[in-house]
Amino acid sequence: MSKLARLGGEPVIKNTDESLFHWPIVNDAMRKAQADVLETGNMSGTDIARRFEAEFAAWQGRKHALSHNNGTNALNAAMYGIGLGPGDEIICTSVTYWASCTGALSLGASVVFCDIDPESLQMDPASFEARITPRTKAVMVVHYMAHPAPMDEIMAIARKHGLKVIEDVSHAQGGHYKGRMLGTFGDVAAMSLMSCKSFAIGEGGMLVTDDDEIFRRAIRFGHYDRIIDVYSDAEMEATKNIPFGGLKNRMHQTSAAIGIEQLKKHDAEIAEIDRAMKYFWKGIEDVKGLKMIYPKDSGSDKAGWYASRFLYDAAAFGGVTNVTFCEALNAETGGGFSFGCNMPLHLSSVFFDVDVYGHGKPTARVFLPDGVDPRAECGELPHAEAVNGRVLGEPWFKHADPARIDPYIEAVHKVAAQATELLPINDTTPVIGGVALSKRKK
Ligand SMILES: *Cc1c(COP(=O)(O)O)cnc(C)c1O
Repeated sequence: MSKLARLGGEPVIKNTDESLFHWPIVNDAMRKAQADVLETGNMSGTDIARRFEAEFAAWQGRKHALSHNNGTNALNAAMYGIGLGPGDEIICTSVTYWASCTGALSLGASVVFCDIDPESLQMDPASFEARITPRTKAVMVVHYMAHPAPMDEIMAIARKHGLKVIEDVSHAQGGHYKGRMLGTFGDVAAMSLMSCKSFAIGEGGMLVTDDDEIFRRAIRFGHYDRIIDVYSDAEMEATKNIPFGGLKNRMHQTSAAIGIEQLKKHDAEIAEIDRAMKYFWKGIEDVKGLKMIYPKDSGSDKAGWYASRFLYDAAAFGGVTNVTFCEALNAETGGGFSFGCNMPLHLSSVFFDVDVYGHGKPTARVFLPDGVDPRAECGELPHAEAVNGRVLGEPWFKHADPARIDPYIEAVHKVAAQATELLPINDTTPVIGGVALSKRKK
């Protein structure tokens, strides 16, 4: 076998074919749809957005869909929608993107983080339950990196304790858990539709719910021109349609127009990605030390494989770290692999110490009884803290084309077979959130 490219040998792939990864896939209908919005000057209305919502709600199997200008604000509206407010706690897995829960602080609530399951990287139900206090109002469940969270366990715990459930579906639009679509389990779901996600329409977000009151509150929070649709004259008499919180969350209609077209092809696209990723894994399943993360239950899937990760066992490669292994893979392929995942959020002082609004004490504690410390409530989160050194990200193949995927399979075999050659250049500094600390310092 030839020498590793990382050590000066010939790479497996000399000319990377970017078309294998290009995203989103744009068709003529999308081009026309967005041009029409521009030509008619209809960028800031709600008519196209409402059409997109109706079709999205039907696809999702939910009564209401409410479009937003991004996923962050859709999630914030979901938290407001369920009534999260001053002195409340919301429990969220520590390993997710910050927008899953940071908006809770603006509502006067605090975030308590729980640990992940080290195999699936999803919320650990026992760790969630252990952090419930009399102040806990809700749980934010993230279907992390396209993998469904264990909804049976999470829903049972939430119902037992009378908690509201919000799903963050930003990584898994169109995915399923035991045959049921993600985003249909909790009281409300919200998700990003930004251009890097599986459902990519530009900046955009969607909130879906069957609950009329959550829908109404989400409108009152940030959709001033639609308050009239869901509140009576008597209800609006005093407030005169001014959105509570002074926010404007509506979606750009270019995004909505693109979204209507994306909806028509989304299921087919994620099915193709699924075939491509499974073909890749079939080719490397015999490599000891690398383990695909895929749901075990029948009817569950990893739709879209957004930011997918797999488990890396350094011990199987003589102690070569995931960072070094990743660099060797990318040297062979010209890129596509990544190491680590999100930084555990409980390592950020924003959730515990920062006085965001000038209350004279940490924002997270402004409405909590004296002596209650959200950081202490999080406790130890060992799996969240270890995860960044244990995972790698696969190349995100968009086309199930064996001839173009085979070289990536070959590259994995090549690096795996000679991994110990990398020991002299092994990067052993800790990894936090997909960044090796040694690299950040440079
Ligand atoms: C991207 C993302 C968001 C935020 O969505 P935006 O559209 O970027 O505002 C929220 N949660 C998760 C898990 C995400 O990955």
